Amino acid sequence: MTQIFDDPADFADEALDGFTAANRRYVSRVDGGVVRATASPQGQVAVVVGGGSGHYPAFAGLVGAGLAAGSACGNMFASPAAGQVYRVAQAAHNGGGVLLSYGNYAGDVLHFGQAQVRLNAEGIETRTVLVTDDIASAPADQLDKRRGIAGDLTVFKVAGAAAEEGLDLDEVERLAILANARTRSLGVAFDGCTLPGSPEPLFHVPAGRMALGLGIHGEPGISEHPMPTASELAQLLVSRLLDDRPEHPGTRVVPIVNGLGTVKYEELFLLFGKVEKLLTAAGLTVVEPECGELVTSLDMSGLSLTLLWLDDELERLWAAPADTPAFRKGAVARRARRDVSADAAAPATDSERPTPAAAALGRHALSAIAAVRDVVVEHEQELGRLDAIAGDGDHGIGMRRGVEAAVAAAQSAATSDGGASVRRILAAAGEAWSEKAGGTSGALWGTAVIAAGAALGNRDRYTGRDAAAAVEAFASAITTLGQAGPGDKTMVDALLPFRDAFLTEISGGAPVGRALAAAAATARGAADLTAGLRPLKGRARPLVERSLGHPDPGAVSFALIAERLGRHLEAELMEQGAKA
Ligand code: ADP
Ligand code: MG
Repeated sequence: MTQIFDDPADFADEALDGFTAANRRYVSRVDGGVVRATASPQGQVAVVVGGGSGHYPAFAGLVGAGLAAGSACGNMFASPAAGQVYRVAQAAHNGGGVLLSYGNYAGDVLHFGQAQVRLNAEGIETRTVLVTDDIASAPADQLDKRRGIAGDLTVFKVAGAAAEEGLDLDEVERLAILANARTRSLGVAFDGCTLPGSPEPLFHVPAGRMALGLGIHGEPGISEHPMPTASELAQLLVSRLLDDRPEHPGTRVVPIVNGLGTVKYEELFLLFGKVEKLLTAAGLTVVEPECGELVTSLDMSGLSLTLLWLDDELERLWAAPADTPAFRKGAVARRARRDVSADAAAPATDSERPTPAAAALGRHALSAIAAVRDVVVEHEQELGRLDAIAGDGDHGIGMRRGVEAAVAAAQSAATSDGGASVRRILAAAGEAWSEKAGGTSGALWGTAVIAAGAALGNRDRYTGRDAAAAVEAFASAITTLGQAGPGDKTMVDALLPFRDAFLTEISGGAPVGRALAAAAATARGAADLTAGLRPLKGRARPLVERSLGHPDPGAVSFALIAERLGRHLEAELMEQGAKA
């Protein structure tokens, strides 16, 4: 049970505040998480980690010299929102780019991915390395489908040490990928964990039994066994991990026995002793092991074993010094403090002062978003019906929630003192869109709107070329984040023909309004053609069949929006012409 709180809804936030107060030597609180309280050399790659709360010392406890530069901290067992990741990364950035690293979970991938697109669009070079160490979560021929558990530590540690050595982003990324490829874990649970305020555990393991391969949020395991002796447990974990060795494993390994919440350190040590003997008996050399709580799952009764298979590079980086609240190794010279409040002041987009001309363009951007809202509201039912054919029926309501929040946020930016540039209007709108819409299309639209805004910037006038750059940024945000290609039956099937038609019109000298109208007609035709496509691989077969003959809802909404924007812009330009 978790019993110390005022209001369970504030648990994650208040725990993080207290953690920061208790560890002020190491970390400073920023909006969305924590960053190092100490200065790092200019140009050092910032390794930014994170995930849901409830896994201490993951992830905030691993922020400090030689390890992470910052941690984005979500609610209990819930991914941080894209805006949180973005703000933590921005505060942690040191001029050397950002490596985002976190466990492979769908929610985290979407939110960190959104943040990555946004950071790149704003000129902060950002890469991602997912942790996929849990051998119980997918077979060995599908490594990229595995989720991340205690292997978070080895990947973060290697990346952080590489950054500390002054290596560049390419190298830090390469070494983090290498560490992940050579890390394997397997966990067991004897009983479930309880979210703060909840009367019941998330799950139970029957008394006298043990679940093998359980995830760190209680995701189902692979099998259930009678409670083993310590020797049997060590044997089981070691043999399964040895069966799943990476390529060219070598003979030097780091074993990590990790407690998941309520297993006593003495029990972990007892097990560790047996693990070490088995590894040695298998001809392996144990190097700088760890035994303790490193990635937990609230008060879950369970533990995991991780093996990091070393090569020379990984051994050097694993052994390098680190100094963080929860993980220390060797000696790190004391560092100067860094004034985070000054560095991480409001993002640049909030502090800009637009000229009156730029603010007037910002108001045009607002009225364009309002036009998008109108067309979405008019077609909400139809989009919902289309999505219900082979999806979950929420495309209409999701788009509406997203775009209504976008209009409200853009409105409040536009009416703030001095107004707002196109960039700031679109940043506010996109952030609200992805946060309020829920669902895949909301994340995609929100991120793409922010990316288009970043391309347009804070300027007094725009040319056709600027519009073309914004359309390219919009399209590339969607393909980068969503990873769908032509023919997968998504909005991409309308978006890419739209982009190509728009770029052709502009380079042929067409004015923006006419280029947009022509590209929208192309998008409409392409959206209709999606009726003949089979949807994304991996969907259930009956849904694939049902979808045939009906267009993709996201492609249809995209075409509707493009058409309305084309008309809106032509009307606005005509009005301006009449005034001139
Ligand atoms: P959800 O799929 O989460 O229920 P919506 O129903 O709002 O979200 O949106 C569904 C639409 O999102 C699909 O019709 C498709 O056009 C689009 N979509 C889904 N996944 C992707 C992707 N990976 N890339 C591009 N578009 C996508
Ligand atoms: Mg849907």
